[in-house]
Amino acid sequence: MREAFKEALSRFAAGVTVVSARLGQEERGMTATAFMSLSLEPPLVALGIHEKAKLWPVLEAARAFSVSLLREGQEAVSQHFAGRPQEGVALEEGRVPGALAVLRCRLEAVYPGGDHRLVVGRVERVELGEPGLPLVYFGRGYRRVVWPS
Ligand code: FAD
Ligand code: NAD
Repeated sequence: MREAFKEALSRFAAGVTVVSARLGQEERGMTATAFMSLSLEPPLVALGIHEKAKLWPVLEAARAFSVSLLREGQEAVSQHFAGRPQEGVALEEGRVPGALAVLRCRLEAVYPGGDHRLVVGRVERVELGEPGLPLVYFGRGYRRVVWPS
């Protein structure tokens, strides 16, 4: 089941996000593809965060977080916040600089989800970057969107 589960889910294309939170002097970021738009009224998003992620206790205590939606070309940013440190990658003002968009959220609810927590955020502010194409994760690698001609 475990291998079939992963093989099936590797066939699901997802945008890539970096979730970040700060508590006092401690700020953490983490790459996440388990992200979705949940509700418009009120504006809610949902995320799956592993129970052992170092981000989790910070986010839970801060009761606030940001979601940066990565753009094409930000593969190194995704790698960095997935635990493979890259030169020159850092958060700025609590978000990934150059992201397509940033959602500033308050923690609305947390539900159990096996070895993850299903985290619901109420979007309190939206910051739009330059329009552009997203970074996509599919088939165990980073992909690009191709416009139909
Ligand atoms: P760490 O592994 O310590 O942190 C992650 C990395 O970010 C480290 O390299 C650290 O140096 C760096 N970092 C942290 N904070 C800062 C900061 N303030 N400034 C600069 N660098 C910082 N896991 C999930 O739970 N849910 C998902 O949806 C999910 N999707 C993923 C999608 C992809 C494509 C990949 C590759 C991984 C995904 N993961 C997901 C796994 C997750 O990204 C990694 O396990 C991650 O390393 C867990 O981060 P952590 O909070 O435990 O802390
Ligand atoms: P993979 O074969 O390890 O995973 C294929 C797919 O299975 C992933 O894209 C994801 O949809 C799912 N998956 C794998 N591990 C998971 C986990 N611990 N919890 C929930 N879903 C999981 O190859 P890959 O796609 O290159 O992923 C590499 C690594 O990145 C994974 O082993 C995992 O550590 C991490 N990852 C975690 C999640 C997540 O927590 N939701 C999502 C994607 C990737």
